[in-house]
Amino acid sequence: MLDLKVMVLTAMMTGSVVGASADNKFDYADERFADLQMLRYKVEGFEQLSLKQKTFIYYLQEAALWGRDILWDQNCKYNLRIRRVLEEVYKAETRVRTGNESDNEEFKAFETYLKRVWFSNGIHHHYGCDKFVPGFSSGWFMRRVHACADSFKDVQGGLDSLLQEVCDAIFNPNILQKRINLTEGVDLIKTSASNYYEGVTQAEAEEFYEKQKAEGDALRPVMYGMNSRLVKDASGRIYEKKWTVNGLYGSAIKHIVDNLLLAREYAEDDKQKEVIDLLVKYYRTGDLKTFDDYSIAWAENTEPLVDFVNGFIECYGDPLGLKCSWESLVNFKDLVATKRTETLSANAQWFEDHSPVDKSFKKEKVKGVSAKVINAALLAGDLYPSTAIGINLPNSNWIRREYGSKSVTIGNITNAYNQAAKGNGMRDEFVLLDSDKEILEKYADVCDELHTDLHECLGHGSGKLLDGIDPDSLKAYGSTIEEARADLFALYYLPDAKLVELGLTPNADAYKAGYYAQMQNGLMTQLVRIQPGKNLEEAHMRNRALIAHWAFEHGKADNVCELVKVNRKTYLRINDYEKLRVLFGELLAEIQRIKSTGDYKGAQALVEEYGVKVDPELHKEVLERYAKLNIAPYKGFINPKYTAVKDKNGKITDVKVSYNEVYAEQMMRYSTLYSALPLVNE
Ligand code: ZN
Repeated sequence: MLDLKVMVLTAMMTGSVVGASADNKFDYADERFADLQMLRYKVEGFEQLSLKQKTFIYYLQEAALWGRDILWDQNCKYNLRIRRVLEEVYKAETRVRTGNESDNEEFKAFETYLKRVWFSNGIHHHYGCDKFVPGFSSGWFMRRVHACADSFKDVQGGLDSLLQEVCDAIFNPNILQKRINLTEGVDLIKTSASNYYEGVTQAEAEEFYEKQKAEGDALRPVMYGMNSRLVKDASGRIYEKKWTVNGLYGSAIKHIVDNLLLAREYAEDDKQKEVIDLLVKYYRTGDLKTFDDYSIAWAENTEPLVDFVNGFIECYGDPLGLKCSWESLVNFKDLVATKRTETLSANAQWFEDHSPVDKSFKKEKVKGVSAKVINAALLAGDLYPSTAIGINLPNSNWIRREYGSKSVTIGNITNAYNQAAKGNGMRDEFVLLDSDKEILEKYADVCDELHTDLHECLGHGSGKLLDGIDPDSLKAYGSTIEEARADLFALYYLPDAKLVELGLTPNADAYKAGYYAQMQNGLMTQLVRIQPGKNLEEAHMRNRALIAHWAFEHGKADNVCELVKVNRKTYLRINDYEKLRVLFGELLAEIQRIKSTGDYKGAQALVEEYGVKVDPELHKEVLERYAKLNIAPYKGFINPKYTAVKDKNGKITDVKVSYNEVYAEQMMRYSTLYSALPLVNE
């Protein structure tokens, strides 16, 4: 899983500032629209790489960019059609502009809508999952489309039927309302607009995969259903359409494979060539055993400086948590920062042995948690433009158990967030005491980094399932519980003397900044990302709320934390940090028990009680205070642009990286150069 989208927010909420390494000339913050702020990240160290490494990265980023359309279609089946129409209207603007004021207003609203669609890889909010409400009229839109009708000559079935579909999808508020619906008690597939199932009910899909699981290897199960759409044909037969070179999305996957094979020539060692070979074989066959072979080879290939993720990875987009969205990350090691995480990993067994969870749920031997800090060279698919700041893969539980996992923190992304968040006013608005502000000022950064490292390097790799427990027992609550487990592992150890001993934290009080940030975020400040009247849906946000509310409630008798009102503003006060650690330890033990024993009812009770509901009064207050600060709640990144310098024979002699492409330009370039899929993928 790729996580910690929320973690960074904590840093920004507490206004943490990263110091001296900043390059003042680089503009980390770029344009802003709707609830979004575009940022840029710097590919630190790229120029120092060898030509071979640069060339390797060049082909890997090409392979990454070719997957873009897959995610668009996965997110909703109308997305590619919609994008095509929107982009034609956008391109034609300078030609058809009338110049009158209402026309200008409509176009401005249209442009914002298009940028939001670009950002979300589709018509639903990337985080909240609700369909966007366009600020322009359907009449204006249709006139604009007809004004550039000649751009649609190639469209099968003609422009009229395409436009009808697209207008319905954009303007009809009663269809495609949510990309992912996780509300209990309704058919999650029927009520989700994502494109992972066609014509099947939730019950039919669950039955289909229960059967596969029952017939398959229980000890080392493949990830059933992860690389296909499940469909029901007219005769009632239910089957998978696999995403392969010759299957669904084949015309995009073919380009991915071609570029992976070009990259292969520049791989850093033979093992890495084997990794690419297995990935290519898997893209060709769709065979899930091959995917497991690939995942093992990839997890074990820790030596090379340059590495990549490329494939169907994230299961957050499927309400049943089976189907994986496409993504790619091209990266290389940050050697200095890696030292920090290697220290943690080298002591992984100590942390496992001393954790407060029941002995029967602990790993006797914690294996192969490889830890490193990387710099992103390119983000793509479900990691673009909104990205995680840490990675822990592969996802398969038995591979993690037997072969370990690769765990990385994306250093240049974290740094970019922190640089861009300087002085955003959050800390002054939401922290009451000067003493708390001071602790945050001094230690929020180091705690944030350390929390991420503990979460990724140790948290996800800790604990074990009891024999015979189905890893998917917790169903829709699985992701929230897993994130809570990793976060609690980090929170429990943040104050530990071991970290001082290992030289990872400056002193015994520094953890207080991390505790304050966690509680403040989970109880209050993360609510800035939720619309009034809505509940928490996203796994990381639910996990944050669960931990904070549980600890708050269970510490009430001892007044561990309190919410105080000053001038009608609510503030968090933590009165007993040591007791708070005890509470985190207790919850960690309980969450690990739920995970280890596959206690669905226990997971449901915890998540529904503490992780879902929002106090409407507090929510309203937080939104009002936040609105005054005028900060965009969501951030995403514009990629750098790579240009290959080639000789007469087409051989790459250098690779240049540049950062001056504006967002719309980047989106139009990607649409022009990397669109391989038809508008309809069935
Ligand atoms: Zn995580």
